Amino acid sequence: MLFSNINGINKKKIVLLPHNKPDGDALGSSLALLFYFRKLKHDVDLISPTEYSESFQWLPGSKDILVFSKHTESLVKRKIVNSDYVFFIDFNNLSRINNIKDFFLYSKAKKVLIDHHPFPFYFDFMFSDPTVAATSVLVFRFISNMNNLDKIDQEIATCLYVGLMTDTGFFRFPSVTSETHFIAGKLIEKGINIDYVYDHLQEKYNESRLKLLSKALKKLKIIQKYRTVYTSIKASDVNKNLYKQGDTEGITTYGLGIKNIVFSVFFFEEKEKHPIKISFRSKGNFSKFPFVRRILMYMFARKHFCGGGHKNAAGGISEKSLSEAIEYFLNIIPNYYNNLMFSI
Ligand code: 5GP
Ligand code: MN
Repeated sequence: MLFSNINGINKKKIVLLPHNKPDGDALGSSLALLFYFRKLKHDVDLISPTEYSESFQWLPGSKDILVFSKHTESLVKRKIVNSDYVFFIDFNNLSRINNIKDFFLYSKAKKVLIDHHPFPFYFDFMFSDPTVAATSVLVFRFISNMNNLDKIDQEIATCLYVGLMTDTGFFRFPSVTSETHFIAGKLIEKGINIDYVYDHLQEKYNESRLKLLSKALKKLKIIQKYRTVYTSIKASDVNKNLYKQGDTEGITTYGLGIKNIVFSVFFFEEKEKHPIKISFRSKGNFSKFPFVRRILMYMFARKHFCGGGHKNAAGGISEKSLSEAIEYFLNIIPNYYNNLMFSI
């Protein structure tokens, strides 16, 4: 029904909604759909709940992203209230779109989920698969299921490729499968400039990003007993004049590079009096008992830090002070001794 409606001749009003502080996968998937639905002649808007990292501003179509703010509130509300379909992209938890969630009280729009996080709640149409490496995989499948792969041009391919690259750590996480590479191959056939994409994602860091990384690495603490590392950045470490959204991206992953470490945690106090943002990265399968496979990273984030995420990457928040949040973490980590010892 959805496909025939969208593939039909009737123009639909469509809103694309990635999560707040959208990452490469959320933005790449949303922008790909923006171009795709335009090709199908729909009236489509891409609304980001917040600003996004400067490192994605080169993405094709990024100039057309409407960023939600006090300034655009009435416009965003009007678009959501009047839309036929709203696509929830790369998230399934309404807390990740901030105040925008309130506008759905007034909207009859059908809700379509395209996402790879576990435990989706009710949507009218769901394209949900937590086993895939990126939401971009699901966008590719979505277009393929509509028999429209020929509509993927270089711009759409570039956006989807960015989603694949960023959510798989450049095709190296265990979530990568032959399908991920199959899709990457199909996208490359559309003429992506791989060198250009890599250069813009990885080699255009600003000064503040490297300075924050160096501060975080200096403060890195290793707890060998629990095969865990953690680090933090406090508000006074952040140079307000230089800091840009997304500058702490990737910090958590560094800790996992240490031999024998399977769990890396990063506490970030972006601003004073704001909740602490916490990122988690792990290796392998944490399990309560040896040889029992159990997904845990997002469970850990959800149980202790009001968060969620995936098997090996998750995030959450804490309303405590930075030092209290770290102390709380250090108190709970011994409970996971078995999981950490027998991981991988
Ligand atoms: P990051 O550490 O890069 O901020 O987040 C890693 C992953 O964890 C994200 O892709 C997202 O799936 C999830 N995540 C991060 N922060 C939150 C949060 O506050 N709530 C929930 N439910 N998931 C989060
Ligand atoms: Mn994703």
